[in-house]
Amino acid sequence: MGMVHLHAHSYYSLLDGLQPADEMGKTVAARGMNAVALTDHGYMGGIPEFVKGCRAANVKPIIGNETYLAFGDAKEKSDFMPDNGVAEKAVNNGHFLLLAKNEEGYKNLMKLTKYSYEDGFYRYPRIDLEMFKQHAKGLIATSTCISSQCFKYWHWGEHAKIDRWCDEVREAVGHDSFFLELQHNNVEKQYGYNQYLIDLSKRKDIPLVLTADAHHQNQDQYKLRGYVMCVSMHKTPDTMPYEIQDHNAWMYDEDFAKSLCDDWQLPHEAVTNTQHVADLVDGSYFERVTRAPNLQLEGMTPEGTSLMLLKKAKAGLISRLGVNSWAEVPKAYKDRIKYEFQVIDEARYSSYFLVVQDYVSLAKGMGIPVGPARGSGGGSLISWSLGITAKHLDPVKHGLLFERFLNPGRVRITLDYSEDMKELENV
Ligand SMILES: [Zn+2]
Ligand SMILES: [Zn+2]
Repeated sequence: MGMVHLHAHSYYSLLDGLQPADEMGKTVAARGMNAVALTDHGYMGGIPEFVKGCRAANVKPIIGNETYLAFGDAKEKSDFMPDNGVAEKAVNNGHFLLLAKNEEGYKNLMKLTKYSYEDGFYRYPRIDLEMFKQHAKGLIATSTCISSQCFKYWHWGEHAKIDRWCDEVREAVGHDSFFLELQHNNVEKQYGYNQYLIDLSKRKDIPLVLTADAHHQNQDQYKLRGYVMCVSMHKTPDTMPYEIQDHNAWMYDEDFAKSLCDDWQLPHEAVTNTQHVADLVDGSYFERVTRAPNLQLEGMTPEGTSLMLLKKAKAGLISRLGVNSWAEVPKAYKDRIKYEFQVIDEARYSSYFLVVQDYVSLAKGMGIPVGPARGSGGGSLISWSLGITAKHLDPVKHGLLFERFLNPGRVRITLDYSEDMKELENV
C-alpha cells in the first residue's frame, strides 16, 4: 500500500496555497504516488489545469473542494453563537472536505459549489447540511481540519454533537465514504484532537486518514507561505501567529508521513487508508463530461462546421462593409479573413466561434447589452464579421492584431454582459 494526498491546496486557494495546480501530479509522481486530490477553499476553478497536469504525469486526479459548511441554514447570513455558554461568536462555518468519487459526485460537487456562491455566501461561499444531504451521492467526505465543525464542537466540549454530525454525514455519503482526518501540524490542540479522533474511530468504526493539508510542494517553502498568509491576515512576519508557520503542510512522501505517525503515536493505517480512498475514485470521467459544446447540426461533419463559419463570416463582412457582394470586398479584408480562418480551422475552433455568435445574437435579440469586445478579442475580423464584436471595432481599419487574440498558445473569447441592462460601451 502507498499513500495519497487527499487534502491539498493549489494557488487557487488565494493567499494561502502556493503550488501551481498543474504541477501537483508531477510532484506526487516524483515522490512515488499514483493519485492526488485538489481541494481548494470553496473553489473548483483550478480543476482543469490540475487534471491536465495529472494526465501528463500519469497520476489519477481526485477532484475535490474544501467547502465551508454553515452551522445552520446557509441562507441565514449571520455569525454563529455556540449554545454551550462559550461567550464567543464564531465564524458561521466549518471547513468540510469533499472529494468526487465519480461523475455523479463531480456533478453534485459543482451543484454544491454553485449553491455556496449564489445562495449561501456570507463572508465565505457556504453550503449547509440539508443541501449537502440532497447532493451527497458519489461524494467522499472527511471530518476535515481544525477549522471544521467537528473540531469546533470538540473545542467547545460538545461531544454529542460530533457523534450526531458524523452520523448524518456518513449516512449521506454511505458508510464506505466517510473518514476521520488526522493531521500533524504546529497547532497546539491538534495532538489532543487526534487522540480524540482515534478513540472516535474505534467507537464508531470510522476509518482514519492522515492528511498534510498541503499548501506547498516542498517543506522549506513554509516560510514563504507564512509571508503570503501575513498579507491575507494583515500581519507582519514578526506578529505572525506561530501555528501558521506549519512545517508539515507540504506534499511529503509515504516515509515522511509514517515518521509523523511515529512522532505522535498515530496508527500507520491512517497513511495506507489514503490509498484505499484514492482507489474508490474513478479518475477517468473528467474530459468526458467537460468537453466544450460542439455545434453538431444534422448531417454536418467537422469540415462542414468550418465551412459554415467561413460562409457566415463572408456574409457578415459583406453586410458590415455595406457592399453588395464578396467581389466588392477590399483585398486586405479578404486576405485577413482567409488567414484568420486558417488559424481557427487548424485549432478546430470553428464550432466555438459559431456557439459564441449564437449566444451573443441571442443576448442582443433579448435586449441584453453586450460589451463591444474585451481586450485582444477586438482583433479578430471574423468575430467582427459575425457580430460578436461591435460595429465600430473594425480591426483592419484600426490596425488591431489578430495574433494577440488567437495563436496556437492562446484561444479564448472574453465578453462582457450587462446585469442591469446598462450599456457597456465604455468597458
Ligand atoms: Zn481546512
Ligand atoms: Zn485545507
